[in-house]
Parts: sequence; C-alpha cells; structure tokens
Amino acid sequence: MSDRKNLRITGGKVLEKGPEGLRIAEKTVFVQDGIIRESAGEGPCEEIRAEGKLILPGLLNLHTHAYMTVLRNYADDVDFDEWLFRRVMPVEDSLPPEGAYWCSLLACMEFLRTGTTCFADMHMFPGGSCRAVIDSGMRGYIGRGLVGEDLYTDGAGRFEQALREIEEYGHVTDRLSFVLSPHAIYSCSPRLYAQTAEEAEKRGLLKQTHLSESDNEVDNCIAKYGKTPVEVIAETGFMDEKTLLAHCVKLRGNDAKILAQSGATVVTNPASNAKLGNGHLDLPLILDNGINLCIGTDGTSSNNTLNLFREMGLFTMIHKAATGNAAAAPARQVAAMVTENPAKAVGMEGKLGVIADGAKADLVFMDLREPSLYPANDLVSALCYSANGMEVESVMVDGRFVMKNREFTLFDAEQVRWEVGRIADKYL
Ligand SMILES: [Zn+2]
Repeated sequence: MSDRKNLRITGGKVLEKGPEGLRIAEKTVFVQDGIIRESAGEGPCEEIRAEGKLILPGLLNLHTHAYMTVLRNYADDVDFDEWLFRRVMPVEDSLPPEGAYWCSLLACMEFLRTGTTCFADMHMFPGGSCRAVIDSGMRGYIGRGLVGEDLYTDGAGRFEQALREIEEYGHVTDRLSFVLSPHAIYSCSPRLYAQTAEEAEKRGLLKQTHLSESDNEVDNCIAKYGKTPVEVIAETGFMDEKTLLAHCVKLRGNDAKILAQSGATVVTNPASNAKLGNGHLDLPLILDNGINLCIGTDGTSSNNTLNLFREMGLFTMIHKAATGNAAAAPARQVAAMVTENPAKAVGMEGKLGVIADGAKADLVFMDLREPSLYPANDLVSALCYSANGMEVESVMVDGRFVMKNREFTLFDAEQVRWEVGRIADKYL
C-alpha cells in the first residue's frame, strides 16, 4: 500500500484544466508526501501503472447527511412536508446515537465507490460523521445541525455539542474540518443565524444552511417576516464567501442578486428537489448572476443515492429539458461543479478538485474498459452522460489508497453492512 511514498503514476489519461476548460491529457502524475508535483522528487519513487485508466481529481459533494443511509428507501413517493415532518423527523429522533457512526461509514463506502473523496455534512448525532471521516480516510466538512431561537440558550444544547465535537475531533486529522450549520429558516430564528455568523467568523469556520427549498418555506417566511428566506438570512450577515447554501430552488424577486452580492455558494441537489416535488434550480438565473454553483446529493432519504455521477447526469438532463436548450449545462461546466467550484467554496482552490502542481493527491481511477466509457470519444462528456460511477476502481486520498480494486483498505465493509442492517431491523 502506498502510504506517503513518492509516487509516479504512469500511462493514464488525466482530467486536467486547460485554457478552455476541463480536458483529458496523457501524462505522468508525480506525488510527493501526498501532494501532486510537476516532477519526481528526491529519493525512491514507486511506480503505479495506470494504462487503461481515467484519472480524475476526487469529487466533492457539498451537501449531504451521511447518517441518513439507514433511511434509504424508507419514505419515498411522498411530498416534502409529509416526508420531512411526518416521516423522517419522528424516526430520526428514535435512532440510536451510536449507530450514526456505522450509517455514516456506509455513506463513505458509497462516496468512495463512486469517486467522491470529500463531503460537506449536516448531522444529528455528534461524533458519527467525524469518526467515519477519520476511519474511512476521506475528507469531510462536518457540522452539527443547529435549531432554535438563540444559539446559546436554545436548541437542546446543539451548539454546545458542535463545539465539543470540534474540540474532540478537530486535531485528529487535517482531513476533517467543521462547518457551523443552522438547519433552515423554519427551524432557526434570524438571531440564531446572526449569532452563528459571528461564531463562524471568530473561529474561522465555514457556514451552511438549507435555503428556499420549498414553496411552503418561502410563503411561511414571507407571512412571518414580510421577506423571503434569502432576504431574512442575508440581513443577519450569515451569507458570504464562506457560506454554502443548499437547494435555492424557490428564489423570488431580488433573491439571486442578493446571493450574488454575498459571494456565497449555491449547492443544488437535483435528485432530492425533483423527488420531493420541489422542482429545480433556475439555472440561467444562477449563472447570469455569476453565483458559484456546486452539485450535491443531499441525504439518502431524499435522493436516494450519494452518487455524483448520477447527479451530474440528472442535473444536465433536467436543465436541458427545463430550458428547451440542448446546449444548457454542458458537460465541462457540470464537471466543474463537482471539482473546482466546490474546492473554491471551501477555500481550497488549487488544492482540491484539480490535478495540478501543489494540489492534494486525492485521485480517482476509473476503468476505461467498462462499456459505459468505451470508446473514448470524449471522456469529459462521458463523466456527465454515460458514466454511472461503477467504473471507479481505486481511490486515493492524500496519496494513499483508501479503496483499491474496489476493496476498502482502512475498514471492514462487511461489518458496516451488518451494523447498519441491524439498526434498520431494530428501529425502522
Ligand atoms: Zn439537506
């Protein structure tokens, strides 16, 4: 197993950024101490032969709820309010907190199996996602979901839990980072958003929230505050370049302009929004306003996969269909939404989501012999239109294989399946 050795990865086709966007190049990739370099370093160098492989930077999925894998296919074919308030929330409260680790590790299996090396997570059970990141070898931006009127006195001590989690796991590995995560405008007060913004600034943390996901959310917010959720939350100072905003499918009036001025990133979740009957993003509006756009999967209860290849395919098809324009959401633009755009959103531009000198060696090896990638007429298009994720054969994070030949190297996948199955049998 390659662990922090110097590596020379030869013979592969590499997704890289050219002057006109993403392209495929045949080149050798050098890795020193987990970082991609232009040339070989001093000392011995292990060769990894990658003939017949397509090498991508690890994909980034910026909106997930990893612990929810246990709820996969548990509440389908129901509308958003029925799904969230009457099906998911009641059962979430009865799940055993210690089970979140296994359920999150199952999520990591699916992420890695389909080429995702980094995820942004909002969770209910402190420690579960953190330990899954640590033990799977993945990279994660993790946040305890916050609710209530006041950050310090309300929300069942959730902010305290968030801080304790940062204290407990913050120094274990630099693959693990934290994101302060107020849940949504219908579960958090504007004051809580303002307080969260201050705490994030003070601690140098990212922020994330659900925003303008359903018509009911927007209508209720206007009835309560006389303003849209975007307007209310923007006024609290919550939105800036370090903020991830999930959904944003129900923007109204000046909302897009406000988002653009804030510099915040929108994370669209095409499957989740379509499946819950919430519609889709207004893509031309987002792009015309120059908003940084990423693609996420949301949790397995509303998607029901964590597979960014399916998500890329859905995204482009939905927006071609919605706009009646076959040139909408072209493959190169879509591929950037799971690589360089999310890297920028988490402040890791040039370090993640790219195969270039100085970037972290988070690499995905896809088997070009798979029928869905053959023949190789345009492999960037293939990522969006024909790949299904099952072509992913091996995955490296920080220059170390965390999945090799479809086997996880750091944990026992069979045990994960057994534990999650046991939780589903007992609690659902
Ligand atoms: Zn979500």
